[in-house]
Amino acid sequence: MKLSKFGQKYTAKTGILELIDDLGKAAVNTGEQYMLGGGNPGILREMSEVWKRRMSELAANMDDFEAGLARYHSHLGRPAFVDALADLLRDTFGWHITGRNIAVTNGSQTAFYMLFNLLAGEPGSTPETGDGGGAEGRGIGGGRRRVLFPIIPEYIGYADQTLSHDDFVGVKPVIDQTAPHRHKYRIDFDALEITDDIAAICVSRPTNPTGNVLTNDEIARLDEIARAHDVPLLIDGAYGMPFPNIVFTDAVPAWNENIVLGLSLSKLGLPSARTGIIVASEEIIGALGSANAIMSLATGTFGQLMAEPLIRSGELLSLSDDVIRPFYLEKSRRTLEWIDELFSDGVEYSVHESEGAFFLWMWFKNLPITTYELYRRLKERNVIVVPGTYFFFGMKEAWSHSDECIRLNYAMPDEEVRRGLEIIAEEAKKAVSEGVARSPR
Ligand code: PLP
Repeated sequence: MKLSKFGQKYTAKTGILELIDDLGKAAVNTGEQYMLGGGNPGILREMSEVWKRRMSELAANMDDFEAGLARYHSHLGRPAFVDALADLLRDTFGWHITGRNIAVTNGSQTAFYMLFNLLAGEPGSTPETGDGGGAEGRGIGGGRRRVLFPIIPEYIGYADQTLSHDDFVGVKPVIDQTAPHRHKYRIDFDALEITDDIAAICVSRPTNPTGNVLTNDEIARLDEIARAHDVPLLIDGAYGMPFPNIVFTDAVPAWNENIVLGLSLSKLGLPSARTGIIVASEEIIGALGSANAIMSLATGTFGQLMAEPLIRSGELLSLSDDVIRPFYLEKSRRTLEWIDELFSDGVEYSVHESEGAFFLWMWFKNLPITTYELYRRLKERNVIVVPGTYFFFGMKEAWSHSDECIRLNYAMPDEEVRRGLEIIAEEAKKAVSEGVARSPR
């Protein structure tokens, strides 16, 4: 098969493909396995009951069922859904928004794909010249436009979303050792350079993979910088506020006309409904809607129908605050205790402060092998984790830190997490005692 440049890019071996492949194989493997990789949310019986109730309500009314599911709907989302969400965000946070500030997409993964490709890459023409821009330099900025990730590591799922690796710029964090065996990444504002080629700034908050939650001050500074340079600030809130609110700090959500906020129904327990939400200026929403029509024709309505009454009543917020957040907080604290119990002897490690999402980010400081090699050895023992290397993209220089970390998902049942950790500790200690030189990836 002769592939186009696009075809080659999207069939290459990527971190996200490896991750989803591990997930797929795990789903059909009936043997003993410990799934600490992937981004699957935990199964919360209380949430499953809520969604089951909503499915029964949907199925019980034939008119609603047919109107909701037996029709193509808008490329921007069901009006009733986006209006209900706009009301909720306005009433809860005082944001000046209407339904015209909201677009629904088939998963927030797709939303970020469209946003990155709408903004980054080869520049388009100015509306006045209409000449297609491009190589002749008649485009809006001459050269390629890029997305700036002001703090790396960042979400693996962004890494391969544009045609060129050159479309991303990633900046190393400052590492604060906050306590014995604990650290926190902070944005290195002194290292941020907003050059003319920067088309947008992007962060996930809480951050996948680290569980970091950028502080209110960090977000305020990024917002100020973005506005001063007239570029949008993309904040991916797939784990954040107002739902599913897997946030353990005093962070507050931020939005204004220059912020593009991503939300998702996935971590509420509906990843298969593939429902992403973008809250942004009407201009960005219009652009996203046009791209969505080309890519997806219309938005899937299932997730919107499931969540709409809960958004209207505010139940989705109370479920997030009273059911989802405490579940993950408790699991995070328990998993950290196990890590300290299992690793303190023989392995030099540090875990990123667990401030949100459902990942723990472990940094091994004296491992003689790369964490990719550790991942490979763990896979042979049916433990799936994600090696750190995939989360460091857009960086000018290689950074050895990227080979020293792994991401663990602690959302799975306790026994599975505990046993998985025991095996990781065994393999890490074995590697340390072997003391061989770090093997290449
Ligand atoms: N953003 C982040 C930070 C994620 O971790 C994920 C999935 O794990 C996504 C976006 C995509 O979520 P979805 O497409 O299910 O809405």
